[in-house]
Amino acid sequence: MHPAIGKTGGCQCNAIRYELTGIPKMLYACHCSDCQKQSASAFGMSLLISRGDVNFLQGQERLKTWDTRGEDGAIKRCAFCPDCGTRIFHASEPEDKPISIKAGSLDDTRWLQPVAHIWLRSAQPWVEIDHRQFRCFAQEPDDESALARLWLEQTPQA
Ligand SMILES: [Zn+2]
Ligand SMILES: [Zn+2]
Repeated sequence: MHPAIGKTGGCQCNAIRYELTGIPKMLYACHCSDCQKQSASAFGMSLLISRGDVNFLQGQERLKTWDTRGEDGAIKRCAFCPDCGTRIFHASEPEDKPISIKAGSLDDTRWLQPVAHIWLRSAQPWVEIDHRQFRCFAQEPDDESALARLWLEQTPQA
């Protein structure tokens, strides 16, 4: 079974709780300046998954959202806990597009292995990525579907 199935996560104060019920499409780390801001750290982690494969166990109605525009110009809706501020996911139109779970909000992060590091052009200067272990991109990758296939191949099934 894919290790993501049944994994739970939530915000820092536990008001928001969710469970993954399907296989994610990809995990990558993004070093763009927006991801540094949203994570208040060195990079963001995006676990792409169908909206229907995230089941909220509690607090979904409490999520607060803030809209911004992605690099492609599309509206990106950012959902976070209004009490503790933990960013939970980003969603873009159209509705059937996968959402991006902020993977550090998962309870068990030991199985997470990003396939790629993107936007390394704006990475913090101390960040050094092993190019033999990860696909590395100065900006956006050209072919996301190839990366998605690679991630699924690389993720060990339990
Ligand atoms: Zn919270
Ligand atoms: Zn980013």
